[in-house]
Amino acid sequence: MSALDVKQLTKTYKGGFQALKGIDLTVDEGDFFALLGPNGAGKSTFIGILASLVNKTGGTVKVFGEDQDRTPELVKSFIGLVPQEFNFNLFLPVVEVVLNQAGYYGIPRREAKVRAERYLKQLDLWDRRDTEMRKLSGGLKRRLMIARALVHEPRLLILDEPTAGVDIEIRRSMWTFLRELNARGTTIILTTHYLEEAESLCRNIAIINHGEIAERTSMLTLLDRL
Ligand code: ADP
Ligand code: ADP
Repeated sequence: MSALDVKQLTKTYKGGFQALKGIDLTVDEGDFFALLGPNGAGKSTFIGILASLVNKTGGTVKVFGEDQDRTPELVKSFIGLVPQEFNFNLFLPVVEVVLNQAGYYGIPRREAKVRAERYLKQLDLWDRRDTEMRKLSGGLKRRLMIARALVHEPRLLILDEPTAGVDIEIRRSMWTFLRELNARGTTIILTTHYLEEAESLCRNIAIINHGEIAERTSMLTLLDRL
């Protein structure tokens, strides 16, 4: 089954700017997939639509076979999003950031606590569970956003530029974590403009440019050509 099946996806922002011009893309279940492209290419718009944060203009989005327009809540439950910017919940303690998100998905408090502990431990944040989010470094904030995105145990994790501006040590620990998560069965899609990141992590890639898919290939095929 496809984790993602997108057909003729378009987005025109208010004011008339056409950010996506008919994207066709499938991503297999279990894949670790990179969406590469320069700033302004449409990557954030694309994943914003997948995560139901941005309204599409036209086309269809299916996630694990479910049409986003027909079963929006089910599609939301399949997806965890690690956003690029996070300027919400800044005064909340780390553990509450994760519990809040669990509440958003209707997970009972007792189960939410078990999961918050599990994911914060996996991401080396359990010792800082009472620290306000705003006091974390950029890299730790990003790891917290991963824990937050996993609390409803999504089948597809989407990360927007996960390691932009993150120092090398935390970047490596995030890469290791994401590889293990993928090996245990979670499909992962990330956007990046670092080829090195895609190269290190991903099996398949699409290059997006000016709101269109310029290329879709395996990482190995791309590297052969460079
Ligand atoms: P990327 O993530 O690849 O950098 P984005 O999806 O953020 O690209 O942006 C694609 C294009 O859409 C850019 O030209 C950007 O300026 C424009 N854009 C993004 N958000 C909006 C918005 N809310 N209103 C109008 N234009 C937008
Ligand atoms: P509502 O549907 O109640 O308007 P919002 O769109 O305001 O909800 O989202 C509530 C919170 O959940 C926000 O912090 C948002 O970023 C987050 N969120 C929404 N959809 C997802 C998703 N698929 N994965 C992770 N976080 C999400």
